Amino acid sequence: MSTSFWGPDFDELAGTDPEIAEVVLDELARQRSGLQLIASENFTSPAVLAALGSTLSNKYAEGYPGRRYYGGCQVVDRAEEIGIARAKALFGAEHANLQPHSGASANFAVYAALLTPGDTVLAMSLPHGGHLTHGSKVSFSGKWFDVVAYGVREDTELIDYDQVRDLARQHRPKMIICGATAYPRLIDFAAFRSIADEIGAWLMVDAAHFIGLVAGGAIPSPVPYADVVSFTTHKVLRGPRGGMILARAELAGRIDKAVFPFSQGGPLMHAVAAKAVALREAATPEYGRYARGVVANAQTLTEALRAEGIRPVGGGTDTHLALLDLRELGVSGRDAESRCDAAGITLNKNAIPFDPQPPAISSGIRVGTPAVTTQGMGEGEMKDIATLIGRAVRDPGAAGEVRAAVSALVSRYPVYPRP
Ligand SMILES: *Cc1c(COP(=O)(O)O)cnc(C)c1O
Repeated sequence: MSTSFWGPDFDELAGTDPEIAEVVLDELARQRSGLQLIASENFTSPAVLAALGSTLSNKYAEGYPGRRYYGGCQVVDRAEEIGIARAKALFGAEHANLQPHSGASANFAVYAALLTPGDTVLAMSLPHGGHLTHGSKVSFSGKWFDVVAYGVREDTELIDYDQVRDLARQHRPKMIICGATAYPRLIDFAAFRSIADEIGAWLMVDAAHFIGLVAGGAIPSPVPYADVVSFTTHKVLRGPRGGMILARAELAGRIDKAVFPFSQGGPLMHAVAAKAVALREAATPEYGRYARGVVANAQTLTEALRAEGIRPVGGGTDTHLALLDLRELGVSGRDAESRCDAAGITLNKNAIPFDPQPPAISSGIRVGTPAVTTQGMGEGEMKDIATLIGRAVRDPGAAGEVRAAVSALVSRYPVYPRP
């Protein structure tokens, strides 16, 4: 195999476009220099980055392996075939489509495959942790579909399955969606399946956030329960930025047609190949240890934050993320985000269920452990991080000292270490 020129060469970029080369280096420095606690972010492997930066980007391959609209696809076909086989094996799925450009594109295709505009959908409300594509008025989902929202109970902050069942009986949605962006606990897929069966609805699980934990065997899989599982490949799963759809065999044709030609053009074959690489990595024992470590770290971080006077919404976490209520500290989510940012800690403000503040201010923050776990940090570091967050949130004057402690911590766990 000749590797004389296969794609990425940083000197090439620096020579042609020093301005963008500088952006790339500055962003790497930013990722290395602080604590990355955004629950939907991670550090993908150099192997995934290599596939992404490859000449597969040059190939037009509209269609699917063996039935393309362009010639010359026999080589890239292999990447997609390998990726599909790996996805089916890893998740025990009957069908896999690796072409969605993003999580939102995957969800768009699922709506297109199973519904017609005007149909009723039952999904989790955005302020309780749902996603924009689950019925927000600013997205196609809320504009073109009649979306009824369920939420969490005010006392437990857990999904109210009685409410889901009542709303399903009352509105008879054609599709029910579960899966969220800011829900820290396990979702009872069997309960959703039984509700969907009772009214003859499709069950779509949007597993964008947690599919990486499923891949590593750290939490239960939605695949046996759902008609369709959509997800992103770049969150806990640690692949390239993109989307994927798993489905029952009888929905394969509808899903594939909804992705291409209905909603997308040519697939990003470099991204498809990178998804295949990530799926191979996710099938290893080391990945399983990582996935379990992500959850253990999230639980340790959550309990240590509780000790800082920061209340975990929903009573704790079973996953990679925690949603935290800052009201006892008298600090808004917006201020906590900016105080942490000044201290080298990247996280996001987040509405909590029944939040008295508007979303732009909000009463909470969301933290996640995929990136720090990929870096190699463990439970001792999680306790240190909780102390640093507590200090940064309570005392904006301590930003400099916290930043120095953050630098010392991350320098022990270098991201993309130089060989
Ligand atoms: C991240 C996310 C998406 C969207 O993914 P994009 O790649 O940003 O389009 C969809 N649904 C859920 C639940 C998500 O968490």
